[in-house]
Amino acid sequence: MSTVVEAKDGSLLGARIADDGQWRFPGFEKVPQKFEKSLLLFEDKYFYWHPGINPVSVIRAIIYNIKAGEIKSGGSTITMQVARISRGNRPRTYPEKILEMFSALKLELFRSKKAILKMYAANAPFGGNIVGLEAATWRYTGKSSADITWAEAAALAVLPNSPSLVFPGKNQEILKTRRDDLLMKLFEREYFDSITLVLALDEPLPGEPEPLPVKAPHLTDFFFKNNKGEMVRTTIDADVQERANEIINAHQKNLSGNFINNSACIIIKVETGEVLAYVGNSNTDDAGDHGRDVDIIRSHRSTGSILKPILYAGMQQSGDILPDALIADIPTRFPGFSPKNFDLGYSGAVPASSALAQSLNIPAVKMLQKFSPERFLDLLQKTGFTTFIKPADYYGLSLILGGGEITLWELSGVYASLSRVLNRYNKMKKYCKDDYHPPLLVSRNEAVMPEIENSDYPLSASSIWLTYEALNKVNRPEGEAGWQYFSASSNLAWKTGTSFGFRDAWAVGTTPEYVIGVWAGNADGEGRPGLTGISAAAPILFDLVSMMGTRTWFADPANDMTMIKVCTQSGYRAATDCPMTKDIPTCVNGMRSEVCPYHTVIHLNKNRTGQVNADCVTADDIINESWFILPPAMEYFYRQKHPEYKVLPPVAPGCSVDKEIPVMEFIYPTSGTKIFIPRDQTGLLTRVIPEVAHRNPSKKIYWHLDEKYYATTRYIHQIEILADAGDHVLTVVDEDGNSIKCSFSIIGKPD
Ligand SMILES: [Zn+2]
Repeated sequence: MSTVVEAKDGSLLGARIADDGQWRFPGFEKVPQKFEKSLLLFEDKYFYWHPGINPVSVIRAIIYNIKAGEIKSGGSTITMQVARISRGNRPRTYPEKILEMFSALKLELFRSKKAILKMYAANAPFGGNIVGLEAATWRYTGKSSADITWAEAAALAVLPNSPSLVFPGKNQEILKTRRDDLLMKLFEREYFDSITLVLALDEPLPGEPEPLPVKAPHLTDFFFKNNKGEMVRTTIDADVQERANEIINAHQKNLSGNFINNSACIIIKVETGEVLAYVGNSNTDDAGDHGRDVDIIRSHRSTGSILKPILYAGMQQSGDILPDALIADIPTRFPGFSPKNFDLGYSGAVPASSALAQSLNIPAVKMLQKFSPERFLDLLQKTGFTTFIKPADYYGLSLILGGGEITLWELSGVYASLSRVLNRYNKMKKYCKDDYHPPLLVSRNEAVMPEIENSDYPLSASSIWLTYEALNKVNRPEGEAGWQYFSASSNLAWKTGTSFGFRDAWAVGTTPEYVIGVWAGNADGEGRPGLTGISAAAPILFDLVSMMGTRTWFADPANDMTMIKVCTQSGYRAATDCPMTKDIPTCVNGMRSEVCPYHTVIHLNKNRTGQVNADCVTADDIINESWFILPPAMEYFYRQKHPEYKVLPPVAPGCSVDKEIPVMEFIYPTSGTKIFIPRDQTGLLTRVIPEVAHRNPSKKIYWHLDEKYYATTRYIHQIEILADAGDHVLTVVDEDGNSIKCSFSIIGKPD
């Protein structure tokens, strides 16, 4: 059998030829009325009355053949023809004919007339390598046998009688005469009216066999591998599939200009998980192969930032962070790697939700460090990712920046599961174990009664909702060129990702109704400058989104949330010293999150220009004020983007303060850093460049390496040092006598 892949409505998406080189479609269900009437009238008028052989026509055929001197007419019934096909179409001899008759009688004994007719329609030759009515109607008319016209039925009824003689495309006159004769006879029997007859006679004959549709070649390949020789009715929406193909191919033309040769997309219905469109790769007719046969949807590719929303959701659920809690965004080295933000800048401190929407890398790594790669890996596996097969320490913190691989199939499937969980919770106030499942390509036969349970769900409705809100509401940074064009995405939670080396561009978006996943890049893994999620994948996503429409937005799962008072400035749970607070909805575990660490009451003189205490001024002259104080390194970068940030006033002359608020902090190195010193392009060892943040940069600071004076800096507190391999201590002292220390080691200089 050929492998046949159909859309949900029964239209043909694609097919693969059977192993014997024949187009023979499986799963043929019902002989259409028009074909049955035409066939029986042409071949076997007494089909329903004879026992498998028709004595009258047998005798007539014998007389005819004797006169002709050779076997020209078989006097065959449909049943005998089925017997003949089943015996392998042997040459027509008298003994063979007699065997055929016995075979036909036996068939009639054990099978119904309808079943025999079906066997005939499924196996009759229709010229060339086309076998069976279903393959014939697709090849000759481009549609299913259920949809054929009277003229097509008549032509197809004539064909098996002598397929070689009336092969469509040749011998058109003979075919036309036979078809028209048959149509006349059908009309005389009043199967249709005279207008239908006129129109039918006017219809063109089937021509050369048409190529079969190629609407989802990678999906057809998938079923050719896994369901060979079967007819598969998929969940694909033929219309959506076709339009998705067009959108992918239109964008592919632009992408190809930048040597980005492949793109793919998948659209999933959230409610059922059914796949509506499956474009495994672009299919433009430009020169070159470009690996277009590769089914990208199932290829393992590096994640880039595309998993950050799952981490954010997990940390909301566990109460590790509140939605807008400030996360440090400063130069940071982690064992083995030092992440950089896409724009190579630092914002000092940024709300977690903005860090997610802007896809900042350093805050993401800091968040994963707090959550731990083990817990994150466990969460990824529970939500439905199966490609993370190594232990957590193999991936480490780089897991959040693309250290692992996923497929577009699973990524989109997980988003569909999360949206389904949120929708279900809003409808039933319950969690259902069955809501987490991979996308479906074939509908489930019966409606599965959801197994309701209330524990052990990987992500709660509130954590999913808060994540989607962050992915929907927060404006995109200007650095991500073009984001403003996508502002029509009012009811879409979306995220892009770019893998290391510009190899993979991802974009995924969800509404309450569907999930769209997009990938662009090169199937062979070649990176291209400009290949980013925003520039290459997001424009495709948004064209697909406007095709599908964004009608609704997720309701908030109020029952699963709790109101928490947070510090307006820090986004942490409000402490008693926080001057401005607001109530926000969070996950229930948000109650367990940390209180604001950044507000401290300090004592100031009347002018608010210096810190004082009761030892140096009278009590009446002291103003107590709650101050927003970031650690020096965060402050150093935060101030550059937040002019409203008020730096802590210095200690007033002649005073000393009780509270130890650090005025300096090492930006680099930090304690425990192990430094590997590479050589530069000229072969010289590069130097280590330590940097310190001071709340008041105009203060002089004095640097000491291993207790020996090394340098003095002012304004820019940065030096270059060249140190031998081994352990070192860097000490800095400012002009007020404040000091900090940092131990680091230099390991194995390269030769
Ligand atoms: Zn606060």
